[in-house]
Order: sequence, then structure tokens, then C-alpha cells
Amino acid sequence: MAKAMARTALRDRAAVKAMKPKGVKTKAARGAARRGGSRHVYFFGNGKADGDRTMKDTLGGKGSGLAEMTNAGLPVPPGFTISTDVCTIYYQEKAKIPAAIEAEMQENLRKLEKAAGATLGSDENPLLVSVRSGAKFSMPGMMDTILNLGLNDTAVEGLKTRTSNGRFAFDSYRRFIQMFGSVVLEIPKDAFEHEFEAVKRERGAKLDTDLDEAALREVVDRYKKVVRDKSGKAFPQDPHEQLKMARNAVFRSWMNPRAQEYRRIYDIPDHIGTAVNVQMMVFGNTGERSATGVGFTRNPATGAKEFYGEFLVNAQGEDVVAGIRTPQPITELEKVLPKAYKELRTITSRLEKHYRDVQDFEFTIQDERLFMLQTRNGKRTGYAAVVIATDLVEEKLITPKDAILQIDPEALSQLLAPGFDQKEWAALPVATKGLPASPGAASGHAVFSADEAVKWADRGKPVVLVRRETVPDDIHGMFVSQGILTATGGMTSHAAVVGRQMGKPSIVGAGELQINEAQKQFSVGGKTVKEGDFVSFDGLTGEVKLAKVASKPSEILQVLNRQMKEKDSDIFRRFNLILTWSDKFRRMGIRANADQPDQAELAYAFGARGIGLCRTEHMFFGEGRIPVVQQMILATTEKDRRAALDKLLPLQRGDFYGVFKAMHGEPVTIRTIDPPLHEFLPKREELMVEIATLEAKGKSGKELEEKRTLLHRVEQLHEFNPMLGHRGVRLGITYPEITEMQTRAIMEAACQLVKEGIKVTPEIMIPLVGHVKELRDQKVVVDRVAEAVIKETGVKVKYLVGTMIEVPRGAMTADQIADAAQFFSFGTNDLTQLTFGFSRDDVGKFLRVYTDKKILDKDPFATFDVDGVGPVVKTAVELGRRTRPDIKLGVCGEHGGDPASIHFFEKVGLDYVSCSPYRVPVARLAAAQAALSVRVGD
Ligand code: ADP
Ligand code: MG
Ligand code: MG
Repeated sequence: MAKAMARTALRDRAAVKAMKPKGVKTKAARGAARRGGSRHVYFFGNGKADGDRTMKDTLGGKGSGLAEMTNAGLPVPPGFTISTDVCTIYYQEKAKIPAAIEAEMQENLRKLEKAAGATLGSDENPLLVSVRSGAKFSMPGMMDTILNLGLNDTAVEGLKTRTSNGRFAFDSYRRFIQMFGSVVLEIPKDAFEHEFEAVKRERGAKLDTDLDEAALREVVDRYKKVVRDKSGKAFPQDPHEQLKMARNAVFRSWMNPRAQEYRRIYDIPDHIGTAVNVQMMVFGNTGERSATGVGFTRNPATGAKEFYGEFLVNAQGEDVVAGIRTPQPITELEKVLPKAYKELRTITSRLEKHYRDVQDFEFTIQDERLFMLQTRNGKRTGYAAVVIATDLVEEKLITPKDAILQIDPEALSQLLAPGFDQKEWAALPVATKGLPASPGAASGHAVFSADEAVKWADRGKPVVLVRRETVPDDIHGMFVSQGILTATGGMTSHAAVVGRQMGKPSIVGAGELQINEAQKQFSVGGKTVKEGDFVSFDGLTGEVKLAKVASKPSEILQVLNRQMKEKDSDIFRRFNLILTWSDKFRRMGIRANADQPDQAELAYAFGARGIGLCRTEHMFFGEGRIPVVQQMILATTEKDRRAALDKLLPLQRGDFYGVFKAMHGEPVTIRTIDPPLHEFLPKREELMVEIATLEAKGKSGKELEEKRTLLHRVEQLHEFNPMLGHRGVRLGITYPEITEMQTRAIMEAACQLVKEGIKVTPEIMIPLVGHVKELRDQKVVVDRVAEAVIKETGVKVKYLVGTMIEVPRGAMTADQIADAAQFFSFGTNDLTQLTFGFSRDDVGKFLRVYTDKKILDKDPFATFDVDGVGPVVKTAVELGRRTRPDIKLGVCGEHGGDPASIHFFEKVGLDYVSCSPYRVPVARLAAAQAALSVRVGD
């Protein structure tokens, strides 16, 4: 990922191309703009708005929230939203805005001036506005916002006169020059910080608020000089010009590298664009009776029903999130500004009821008057998501169906993540405490920059990212870390918000940490921690310890493993509730991929009802089995091979017995041997070294001879392209005795269980079939042996014979194959590999370049490629059903546990998905969401 950041320049050029028109919406918008038709700018103010909450596509999340709040009669400063279409047009027209849209903006600006009772650029009564970015999906801190726009050398004096508050006027002006300078003119922030710190130092000021008017006038002068020096031009004095420049800068920020990186991580498409909100300023920096803050209607880390947030007196918006001054907890606002606090509680409770979800809001209090500046559904940890959704159902604010649609399925996998071993944890001294921003246990090597984090992680090392504060540029490092630890900032700082969203344990505002990022170390309580030293912390309590700490299973797993009683775990009850609700709504069955009895048991406990893939070869790797397997492979005659297989038979039978039993009668799909045989033999190079060593030692005899034979066989089995070589059904065809042994093991285990009164449903699956005759060949063997076992044991067991569809030829001739197969299971890993012609094992070498260049949006091995591999699956489904209408269809590739892929499988009407045991809860929820949001055949 670090490399990707370095490839910025390359991507910026690609960026404009990536914004190519997609879908009818933008094309229509473009045409309409030329004709001067449909609307591109939406007003809100005076209790009425042109837009509403349903218009996120057009207005972005922020714009639609402002419109909705205005319509609800809440105190929102008036303004207008320039739609996301305009962003698309801006890129299409190579950074120009068509005249018709400019005119529409002017018209709305006049409306705003009227509503505000002030005029942009006026000397006596200047209108000041904020220019705010806001896409459909919130991207915290990724794009830019500019406050106090409209100030210039004369307007600032007008503002001073009108408010009789010179300090406030010049504080606003210096903020504006700095924001405009860095965002629009792209002057590094440091250049301004440097001057600001110098003035503070010279005047002996500790806090920003200690600077008086005279000092701030000096800051403004110095800032203007910075602008002149760095940009070669004077700071623009025409507010109308300022407005256009700021608007365009917001559009440009949509394509900045960190925003692109963010969208890549969260799968947000590039083409949707951002809206721009122009809104009358309200001021939290007029003095002690003013404030600004952010909050949540419930705790976004734990889900607890408590008012949660922070504020700063005498400050402007970005101060709270930036972590410059440590803000106060929101509950203290009750003491400082009681009237505004009460109103804020009332309004935010109303908003939560209205949106039927936790709200994340921004507000500003100007001289005791409250203004709402933003509301949106709050981002939350997986843990909080489950707590909140179940609480909202209990409070009758939402139905179970709403709850299911509200939770990101990944939240459930977060709940399964391990925590610390409490004994080990408790025994260690607490080094320091910070704010518990995002729960979970993190332990890893300390690193001090995002790039270092990526470097260490690439080497497979767990890391904890330690920063004074994180900035949006750190996102790639946060992504690969076990946890994030910062010294400044509050519960709504960047590190906290992003940490929660990523489900990364995070502690922020651990103020005792003395971090020296340049020297890559921090000290706390007299101890120094250098890069690479171990740090551990608990994101739920905020405790930090300087040691490596082992983790232990999550509460959910403890309940499932009976280490904890179900009734003692509140989170388990909620987790179970969500899944029980999901089961009511889903159509597809959920199975698990499991090879061993213990995995099967866990999968069953997680709610899997069936095994979609039991890989028999994994059993060959079990304790003491490899020598027998090797003996089978080394055999040169059928007789020798059968002798080895006879030894494997009881072992496999035992495994199958266990897996069947763990599934309590649910279907179990067992795949016959699949990988190339050399995977079970030692590596050629290693053998050669061993032989050379023995020879050098002058050894001779049995050991040396054995090794030589082995080497000879390894060389015989060598394949240039084993993935396309002698594997899958091809093995069963050349060595039918392997299929015989495996069938016998399966059927004997099944018959044994039936004798014991336990139901079993074996499904024998032949892999890698591309031609119906391959399957027929194997089916003859399977049926012969199965019937023989049934006869020998006198027990009747119903079994199915089917195949994996994972070779494109198999998919394209699925009608013929269905004649011999009672079920299909899509092996989407191999099918993706063979449809793309990408070797699964080598794709890592170039995939990143493909996604960077936007040749592919996503890794097709992680998220199913609906466009290309999709039609292959669809064809096989249709052909298969044509021959055998009741054919059972499932998927057992890695995609079976991926929510986006599950939506596709719902659409094509598969009967079940199968995934790894730990993904089963995710798949249950995702399948319910799919059933509720798409229809079979769509
Ligand atoms: P972000 O999406 O990064 O939160 P915002 O556009 O919400 O960016 O604005 C950044 C900060 O500026 C927020 O704290 C917000 O409340 C504040 N802000 C934005 N517009 C105004 C305004 N018109 N008056 C006062 N504060 C504002
Ligand atoms: Mg905001
Ligand atoms: Mg396969």
C-alpha cells in the first residue's frame, strides 16, 4: 500500500479518466446542463429545503442531512448544495463549470444572502460561508472543507465593527487564510503553523485562545506573506472568486490520493463524485458563550445508550477533530451552557427517532444559540452495531428486518476476534491509560509511521501504530495494524473514527505518551519504547501495557466451546438474536467447508447446516499419515498401491465418521482427492541436499537408497504447470483404486452411523470435471463400491454423486454433465483462475498493478467477478437445471463467505453457500440481506 501512495502522480492522471460518465444519470445531467434544464443546485433555509433525506445520490450525505433537518424545522444555517452531478461534469469538462450551472449557483447565492441578511463581499455586513465537501458515503477527513469564506482585508473590519469583537474577526480571518491557503492554493500547512507558533512564542501565549486581536492581526499579516511567497500571488480578495476557487478545490479533493485509497478500501466507486455545500457561517469562536462540538446519540464503541461526544468552548469546528486542544466530554456542556445543552439533547433524540438509527451530529453554539451543522447515521464498531441494532428492536424503533439490513455482516466477524488472556493481562503493570476509542485487544511491535507499519506488516509482523495523532494520509498504515494508539485527540478524532470503522482496536488521547516520531520512540513513566518493541492495549478499557500479550478466544467462542455459560454473556445473546432473525429471512442454506470433526462441530455451532466441502487430502496431512500416503504414491504397481491404500482406509473412515456425526444428519459433501500428488512428497531440492549430505558422510544403505528412490519418483512426478496438471478427476481416472478406497471409507462410516441410529447424508463429489465422460468413469467406480458396502453391511444409506463446476468446459457442457451429476458445487476459486487464466498462486505479483491502474476494481479471488465469471456460473446453472430440474446447486469457493458475492449467488438462485466455519455467521446475515434486497433471476 505504501508503494501505492508513491504512485500518486500516475494515479492522478488516471483519475480524470476514471471519472468517465457511467450510467444514464450523468449523461442526462450533462445534456441538461447544456440545455440549462434540470436542477443542479438545491437550496435549504427558512424551514424549507429543495431536497430531502432520499436524495443522497444527488446531494451527498451531508447535503441530504442538512435538507432533512431544515425541513424538520431544526436550527440549521441556510445554504445550498451543488449536486454530485456537477462534480462529474467538472471532470468531464476538464475542470470547467458550464455557464448555466454558474448562473444557477449565483441565483442560489442571492437567495442565501436574502435569508442571511448579509451580502458576500459587503464591507459593512459581509456574508461568510463554509464550503463543505460531502459525498454519498461519508469519508471522514478525506476531502476538504473551508470555513469563513468571504473575508478579505475590508470585510474583516466590517465584521469587527458589526460584532464589536476584533479578536473574533481576526481569528476567523486567520483561519480562513490558512484553510484556503492549504486546500485551494496547496501551500503546505506547516508553513502556516510555523508562523502561528512563532507569534504564540513571541507573545508568551500557551493556547490559541490566549492570542488577542493585535496578535491575530500579526498572524494574518504573516499568513498573507506566506501566501505571496509560496504561491507567487497575493491572497485573493474577491469573495466571488474565492467561492469558485473553493468549490473547484472541493471537486479536486474527490480525486486526491488519500480519498482514492479510502474508496478502494471501502469499495466506494470513483464515479459517484462529491457534492459541495455552501452554508452561512455560524461562529463558535465569538467568546466564552460560544462553542462547537460533535457527538453521537449512543456510544459508537460499545453501543451503550448514552449521550456521547465532545466540545470546545470558543472554537471553530475543525478544532475538535484535529486534536489541537483536548476537548471536554459533552456531558459537561450541561454545566457550561445549560440551555443549549438541553435543546441539543431534545433535537438529537428527535433525529435518532426520525432516522431510526444512531446519529452522529455536529453543532455550533453562537452566543448561546444552538445550530445543527450535520447529522448522519453514526459509524460504529461491530460490537456496537450488534448492541445498537438489538436495543433499537427492543425499543420498538425498528423491526428485526430493519436490524438485519442495518448491520454490516463483517461486524459479526469482528465479534469473533480474540481478546487478551485476562490472567496474563492483569499480571502486567499498566503503563498508561488513554481514551477507549475502539474495543478489542491489540498486541504488536511499535511503529511510528504508516509507511513503517506497512513495511513491517509486509514481513508478516503484527504492529501497533503509535502516533501523536493520525491524519487521513495514515490510512494505509492503520489498515495493516493490529491497533492504533495516539497521544492527542478525543473520542471523535480521526484515529478514533477510522479505528472504529475499520474494527481496529484503538486508544486515543493517551496524553502521557511522549512520542518522538522522528527518532521512532516514545517514553512513558520513565520507560522508553523503541520501534520494534512490543506494545499491547485493550481498546475497551483504554489500558496500555509494554509487553507482548497472548490473546484468548472471544466471548462468543467461549460460549460455543462451553467455557462460559450462555446466560452470562449478553453479547452472545444479541449475536444469536441477530442470526436467528437472519435465518427467518434467508432463502439459501449455509454450509461450511470443514475437513475435520472439530471444525465441523464448530461450524455446526455457528449455524452451518451441512458441509459444502470436505477436502479429503487435508486428512492425509494428519499426524503419522504422510509416510503412508508417500508409500501409496511411490508404489509402482497397483498391488503395492492397494496395500498402502488399505492402511489409509481405516484412518479416512474414522475422519468421515467424525465429520458425519458432528453434522447431525445434515448433508456432507466429500470431495475425492484433488491436488497434484507431488504436494505430498518432499521438495526435490531438499532431497538432493539430504542425499548429498549422506553421501558426503560416507553413508550407504537403506536410508540413502530410500531417499534416492524418493527423488527419482519426485522427478517423475514433476510437472511444469501442476495447477493444470495431473490432479482432480484425472487422478481418480488414472488410479481408480484411490476413488475406491475413499468411497469405501465414506460409505463404511455412513453405514456404521446408521447402525448406531444416527442419520447421515453423504454426497460424493468429483473435482475438476470438464467432460461428462470423466464424471461417468468415476461414477461407475463410486456406485460399484457404494453398492458393495451397502450389501456387505446390510445397511441402506442414500448417497448422492455430483461434481464441482470449476473448469469452464464443465460449465459450458453442464447440461451433459447434469445427466451424470445429482449436484453441482461451484468451485469458484479454480473457476476464477481458469476463466481469467490467472494462476491463483502467482496473481499476487501483478494484481496490485491491475487495481492501481483500475484494470480491475477488486481482487477477483476475494470478491466474485460478477461480470466475467458470473455468466459462466449462470450458464452452468441454466444448463444444469434444463437437464435435471431438481439438481442441487451450491458454491464452495472462498467467495461463499463474502457478502458481495453472496448477493450474486442469491440472484442466480443457488441452493446454498459454503464457507469456512468462522465466516458462517457472516454468511447467514449476508444471505438474509441478499434475500431481502435482490430477487432470484434479477
Ligand atoms: P467534515 O466532513 O470533514 O466533518 P465539514 O464540512 O462537516 O467537514 O466541516 C468541518 C467542520 O467545520 C465541522 O466541525 C463543521 O461543523 C464546521 N462547519 C462547517 N460548516 C460550518 C458553518 N457554516 N458554520 C460553522 N461551522 C461549520
Ligand atoms: Mg462534518
Ligand atoms: Mg478446485
